[in-house]
Amino acid sequence: METLLKVDKLKQYYPIKGGVLERTVNHVKAVDDISFTLAEGETLSIVGESGCGKSTIGRAILRLVKSTTGKIEFLNKDLLKANAKELREMRKNLQVIFQDPFASLNPRQKVGSILEEALIIHKKGSKSERKQRIIELLESVGLSEHAINRYPHEFSGGQRQRIGIARALSVEPRLIICDEAVSALDVSVQAQVLNLLKTLQKKHKLAYLFISHDLGVVKHVSDRVIVMYLGKIVEIGDKTDIFKNPKHPYTKALLSAIPSTSSAEKQKRIVLKGDIPSPIDPPVGCRFHTRCPFATSECKTLEPELKKVGVNQSAACHLI
Ligand code: SF4
Repeated sequence: METLLKVDKLKQYYPIKGGVLERTVNHVKAVDDISFTLAEGETLSIVGESGCGKSTIGRAILRLVKSTTGKIEFLNKDLLKANAKELREMRKNLQVIFQDPFASLNPRQKVGSILEEALIIHKKGSKSERKQRIIELLESVGLSEHAINRYPHEFSGGQRQRIGIARALSVEPRLIICDEAVSALDVSVQAQVLNLLKTLQKKHKLAYLFISHDLGVVKHVSDRVIVMYLGKIVEIGDKTDIFKNPKHPYTKALLSAIPSTSSAEKQKRIVLKGDIPSPIDPPVGCRFHTRCPFATSECKTLEPELKKVGVNQSAACHLI
């Protein structure tokens, strides 16, 4: 399958200003040397606790923040070097669905106008062709054409997220970044929206970069999974390997916290000590050593590299 997205050695540091002269005194190292690829039609999920840098990666790919160093190639073009015109062209193929559909939909705009906006920007079709396209889009996400003349507040949370999905689909993208896209929804509505995303993926060969803190959701949607801790990838691999045979102590701890109804899947909860350290001054050596139950003296000085631990699985831990 064609590689759509290639992120190479991406760093996203935010400067901290201080003193009378407002000089840069330190940095928040939100994302620190991250590399991965994403193929056509694939769902790659990024998981980790809040503050691990997963949403920052999405924002960097969308160019909502200016990356410090590294390279992001999308459809063989360097996103970080693209000018405004090139970026607009790329946006046709790269869309986003945010967590809060209400905040991301203009409350003063009717749904028809919200969906038409992207079609106008990307010069897609005549007025009547656009109207037909909007009706098709609404139908594809399970809404009727009557939605055209209604405002976002007239819909439920799940329906609003469907409108967000229709908007993302309107320009026929190749990749959609789903940033906590179902986190704000009730569990039953979550399942409906996730199933809709899967159906649309099959139909349009869409790729998803699925950013979520919810491992239950990630297990349901992913082909591959990236586990992040304090700005670093600690484990990456096929979903089955990550969920059935996790290698990194942090992945094991995260998975042990998923509630399970099956007795075969029930495992002892691994409770991590303390809070996630500050990304301003991350621990030297393995960043996880302050909370890892297996930390050795080597872990406190030497940073582990991401190494192959299976056919399609890599982890960063000295003990593996
Ligand atoms: Fe734990 Fe050491 Fe492995 Fe880090 S490198 S996860 S501290 S055992």
